[in-house]
Amino acid sequence: MIKYFGAKILHDIIDRSIQVHGSLGFSSDLPLDFMYRAARAARLYDGPDEVHRDTVAKLVLRDYEAPADRVPTEHVPTRRRAAQDRYADLFDEVLA
Ligand SMILES: Cc1cc2nc3c(=O)[nH]c(=O)nc-3n(C[C@H](O)[C@H](O)[C@H](O)COP(=O)(O)OP(=O)(O)OC[C@H]3O[C@@H](n4cnc5c(N)ncnc54)[C@H](O)[C@@H]3O)c2cc1C
Repeated sequence: MIKYFGAKILHDIIDRSIQVHGSLGFSSDLPLDFMYRAARAARLYDGPDEVHRDTVAKLVLRDYEAPADRVPTEHVPTRRRAAQDRYADLFDEVLA
């Protein structure tokens, strides 16, 4: 996570610094254009952002299993149907 966020924050801060300085920030009169190039590379040289995100996602998701019926457990229509079946008597009573 820190590889992903660290590189992104470094990149965004330098990008904003260039923006604040306008064209001066993009010129070689300031070190920002050089810093920007280095920061942009940081999103690649230790592995691309996507690979870090993928790795973290695999770590987070490794303790979870897909339900046997492949329907997410929080699937609202499925839960609503189950609740309607479970409380059918009460529904009949209230709606009568
Ligand atoms: C300045 C610099 C210094 C470097 N220094 C070193 C070094 O010291 N030692 C070293 O070993 N390497 C170094 N590298 C290489 C660096 O590790 C690779 O560039 C990096 O891992 C990406 O590999 P690639 O360039 O082959 O791009 P590719 O693997 O071809 O990836 C290209 C793009 O495809 C996407 N992608 C790739 N894989 C996935 C995936 N699994 N899931 C989703 N999207 C994906 C990403 O958007 C990625 O940016 C350096 C690179 C740079 C730019």
